Amino acid sequence: MDSGARKCNNVSKANQRRLDCLHEAGHAVMAWIQGVTIIEIRLVPDHEAGELAATTSTKLPGPTWEHWSLDDVIAQMRIVLAGPRAEQLGPAPMSAGEREFVKQERNKHLLKAMQYAKQFGGSRIQDALIPRLAASAERDVDEVFNRTVVVQSVRALASELLGRESILGPDAEAFIASKITEQQRNALQECCVTKPRARATSASAASETQSDEHQ
Ligand SMILES: [Zn+2]
Repeated sequence: MDSGARKCNNVSKANQRRLDCLHEAGHAVMAWIQGVTIIEIRLVPDHEAGELAATTSTKLPGPTWEHWSLDDVIAQMRIVLAGPRAEQLGPAPMSAGEREFVKQERNKHLLKAMQYAKQFGGSRIQDALIPRLAASAERDVDEVFNRTVVVQSVRALASELLGRESILGPDAEAFIASKITEQQRNALQECCVTKPRARATSASAASETQSDEHQ
């Protein structure tokens, strides 16, 4: 959906790449915790724009709101919001330019999370409720990122990404699973997220090729 190019003139290229890797790792780990399939993480140089394009694509329930449960909508909102949240795990202290960049990313992703609620919530979510839903999803993400095991796995995946241009979903999932045990994932779901509903439905089978990119 998004082209994926982003840059901030006040952030050095090396630090930008570190933030990008943390950001995409945040999306990916949040997806994995919730049982959402990761398709691919990409950190490829965009030669035309002279910038880095970074995306994490995950499997979506379907193309229209009828395919989505309310839990699906909230799960995607959390995945979106986990990107900018993960940037806060960068080496401190951040420069003023970096702080500004992280703030802008957070605002952009908050808007995107709210667009998800509007687009895929259908008539189930009234417009007036959307900001509250986003705030609640952001609190869930904070709760998840307060756990040491999550912080460690996001940082480890970001380091892994640093030396690569892309990592396929199954490899990313295996990597995260080597850092967070099944028991820890269950505990994270209990405490911080709605348990993902069983996905063995015809709707999800029909959406094999549907994916979205988290910039
Ligand atoms: Zn993002």
